[in-house]
Amino acid sequence: MMNGKPKIIGVLTSGGDAPGMNAAVRAVVRTAIKRDIRVLGITNGYNGLINGEVIEMDLRKVSSLLHRGGTLLKTARCKEFRTKEGQLKAYEVCKEMGIEGLVVIGGDGSFRGAKALSDLGVPTVGIPGTIDNDIASTDYTIGFYTALNTVVDAIDRLRDTSESHNRCSVVEVMGHGAGHLALYSSIAGGGTSCWINEVDFDVEKDIIQKMKRTLRTGKHNFVIIVSEGITDIHALAKEIEAKTGVESRATVLGHIQRGGSPAAYDRLLASRMGYHAVEVLEQGIGDRVIVVRGDVIGDMDITEALNMTKKADPIMIAINETINI
Ligand code: ATP
Repeated sequence: MMNGKPKIIGVLTSGGDAPGMNAAVRAVVRTAIKRDIRVLGITNGYNGLINGEVIEMDLRKVSSLLHRGGTLLKTARCKEFRTKEGQLKAYEVCKEMGIEGLVVIGGDGSFRGAKALSDLGVPTVGIPGTIDNDIASTDYTIGFYTALNTVVDAIDRLRDTSESHNRCSVVEVMGHGAGHLALYSSIAGGGTSCWINEVDFDVEKDIIQKMKRTLRTGKHNFVIIVSEGITDIHALAKEIEAKTGVESRATVLGHIQRGGSPAAYDRLLASRMGYHAVEVLEQGIGDRVIVVRGDVIGDMDITEALNMTKKADPIMIAINETINI
């Protein structure tokens, strides 16, 4: 979709928050202003767009924002925007406010919304922001590496106490059905076993027998990583304790994984993607998502991106199974 260079663009964050969303907003605002494009920040995701909740984004608004977690613009899920009526309302708001291009920072659902707006005539570009790294078109999403650091830090702490007490720690990691965060955490944190949806997993073989073998070698502490939504980890901890005799504790890391100052990698990714998104909109192009592949930033058609599927990396699975004995 091609229009002319926009005079005003909007930026919003949508779906689950992720560290680095602020850095992406900052990059969008600074790049656009540098190119004489005015930026309106839309608060509360698509809800805010439908209700006309906008704030002027000047250079000052985004100063001291780079290192802050969460999202200054707030984020939300919006049922109404899933309907044609809701999308038309949002389109009318864009027309009223003179918004001729929009950057949407969020996940796949947010990109579906972006596609709908592009179809209505507001060129819209998506930037992948989610800790789950479950967007197929891009190698990495903004927030993933920060969440990974948070999880690994938590695993290290749990390991300290598990070692002291000869315990087994069962840790639930977020992922929204995808195992990327759990798998990477297991490799970086040295999980005894890692249970994700993408692998065939048998509790008896992959946890109980493995622990029993390891106990015979003199090691008495364990970290079992489970991707969220697979099983009740409290019940799993009880089962492990009953079958191995190793005292076991369950920890659901929960929303701690979503907060915190973004890691340097996420700040870089957000800055690069925000810059690229404005470059695309500046050419009057919409209906695109920004991606990173092999450390090269690019963009692709939203529909094509949404039709892609992403599996857990088989090499990472093999590495985890080989190294974490
Ligand atoms: P996360 O992966 O972090 O949950 P997400 O962007 O996938 O992020 P969703 O809740 O799926 O999160 O979507 C965010 C918002 O995008 C929804 O609340 C809704 O307003 C809009 N949206 C989702 N799917 C569609 C769709 N098919 N059509 C139009 N808008 C949609």
